[in-house]
Amino acid sequence: MERTVYINGEYVSESEAKISVFDRGFLFADAVYEVTAVLEGLLIDNHGHLERLERSCRELGIKLPVTSEELTEIQKTLIEKNSLIEGGVYLQLTRGCEGDRDFSYSDDIEPTLVLFTQERALINSSYAQKGIKILSMDDLRWKRRDIKTTSLLPACLAKQLAKQSGCDDVWLIENGLITEGGSSNAYIVTADDKVVTRPLSNDILHGITRASLLQLAKDFDIEIEEREFTIEEAYEAKEAFVSSATTFIWPVVSIDGKTIGSGKPGSLATKLRDIYIKMAIDTAR
Ligand code: PMP
Repeated sequence: MERTVYINGEYVSESEAKISVFDRGFLFADAVYEVTAVLEGLLIDNHGHLERLERSCRELGIKLPVTSEELTEIQKTLIEKNSLIEGGVYLQLTRGCEGDRDFSYSDDIEPTLVLFTQERALINSSYAQKGIKILSMDDLRWKRRDIKTTSLLPACLAKQLAKQSGCDDVWLIENGLITEGGSSNAYIVTADDKVVTRPLSNDILHGITRASLLQLAKDFDIEIEEREFTIEEAYEAKEAFVSSATTFIWPVVSIDGKTIGSGKPGSLATKLRDIYIKMAIDTAR
């Protein structure tokens, strides 16, 4: 069964959607993206994702051809057309295409907007139940990781290496400190039950799930420390976990072959996952 996808104002079958070989998204990864989770057919934390999209566009001078309200309508139409209950809506906006390959571009270049749905089991995920194994490695990305661009080659290579090493994902390290996961924000829990995560800066993506989680933690009197932490501190942590729109929260049970805590998903990570999912659905209704 072919999905219906959205491309530049039209809803078409996935095999009919075509992009020019000269599109700057294809040639230069000159593009931004967002992924919004879908639970029970509802868009989760979507407001935050669309706000971040606007910010990414502003930072790069990419024109957003539709309003946030129009984007939400497109997302909802795709969910309906594809009968999506659980998974996500992927959105990509490229700077556009001017008919030949050229590093520079004109002011009136027209952007390319593409959205499609992806079906995925988010609630009954074996990774959520068993936890994930992490491999740490050097963070080789550029210096504006706060902008959500499609320049994801370092993440692809790092995640592939993790997979080949029998791990599920990576944590990235810069100057001895964890920046974030390959496609997630990273957290540890200290012996006295404080949740530690790196503060926001240009060094990490400002996760929308992270923002919701920090708010939730406040509401539930869970103490958060926004500070940098080393890989050595992570090895010794009581718990560790990651957050993103496609995982919500996944517990981390080992890092570089070293068991974290009991080697089972931690109780704080599990609790945060449960309350996040409940809150996210309630808010989306
Ligand atoms: N960091 C990176 C590098 C990511 O790719 C992602 C997921 N896109 C995140 C963090 C988590 O962000 P969010 O919670 O908005 O999905």
